[in-house]
Amino acid sequence: MTPERVDLKGMSLERLERFVAEIGEPRYRATQLASWLYEKDVTDFGSMTNLPAALRDRLEVEAAACRSKLVASERSSIDGTEKLLLEYEDGSRIEAVILEDEERVTGCVSTQVGCRLGCTFCATGAMGLDRNLSAAEIVEEIMALRRHAAPRRLDNLVFMGMGEPLDNYEATLGAIRIANAPWGLGIGARRMAVSTAGLVEGIRRLAREDLQVNLAVSLNAPTQKLREAIMPVARRNTLPKLRSALQEFVEATGRMVTLEYVLLAGVNDSQEEADALARFASELPCKINLICYNRIAGALYAPPSKSKADRFLRRLRETCPTVVRRLSRGTDISAGCGQLHASRDGPGERD
Ligand code: SF4
Repeated sequence: MTPERVDLKGMSLERLERFVAEIGEPRYRATQLASWLYEKDVTDFGSMTNLPAALRDRLEVEAAACRSKLVASERSSIDGTEKLLLEYEDGSRIEAVILEDEERVTGCVSTQVGCRLGCTFCATGAMGLDRNLSAAEIVEEIMALRRHAAPRRLDNLVFMGMGEPLDNYEATLGAIRIANAPWGLGIGARRMAVSTAGLVEGIRRLAREDLQVNLAVSLNAPTQKLREAIMPVARRNTLPKLRSALQEFVEATGRMVTLEYVLLAGVNDSQEEADALARFASELPCKINLICYNRIAGALYAPPSKSKADRFLRRLRETCPTVVRRLSRGTDISAGCGQLHASRDGPGERD
């Protein structure tokens, strides 16, 4: 793609309408283009047979529609979770995951190539940030998951893959709106969740969007000191600020938030920490997901024993009825929480 070519895949219908108006075409061409791009999954303008030949020729020269290459896929023999390694035109690679059960198919979506937040338990954080994905690239990633999941319908999305979605706010929101739109991918907003490491400004901004998406926060520590030690992002986005942004989100959207808590042996799994977590969650409409840590290569941490994790859960349940222990999926193929990583050179080291 030459730099002057405009990528149509990340465009809203309104933006497509402006684009077709600028090139002297009637407005309905935007709907036709959206249908080819999102519903029919066609990116070759020459094949868009209901467009006039002159327009097809012009689009070939002036426009583009992002398409990724599926470099590899790997399926868990334990639970059928599937991890895709996708490559974009510039050689950047990301991982995306399909989680299936009898009721639903969920896509776990990456929003950045790497991540700059450096959470100490995360394989992506160890890569650093290479670059943001564009809205077009995120939409294409979701479409690659949809292609791969077929004939089953991809009906849930979690923005929980590589990267911090709220650190790439515009592109992520642009992709969410296209994924949600009836002229786009038609996935209900309530079936999407944005997972953040706790970027307070991003949470406040998301609260003001007219969107019914769910919010999950990767909390992982109930005290400021501990959270700073394992998640550097907590230095600026302190727990009191995070707590008040979450309250604001709940009040603005009427939606409960999810607190994700990864149990790290000997780090955040004591009874005192269970109590501190309960205090953080008290009076906040929320549910808590407890997840046992997934080991990554060169890891600083280990998962707690089953009995320790059970004790933490029991203690928390005394005051927080909405806590659930979530099973991590796809851990045998490094597709579990915090395990995703990819590079230009290859699928990356596996543990
Ligand atoms: S947990 Fe999320 S925010 Fe933290 S380093 Fe990993 S990808 Fe980035």
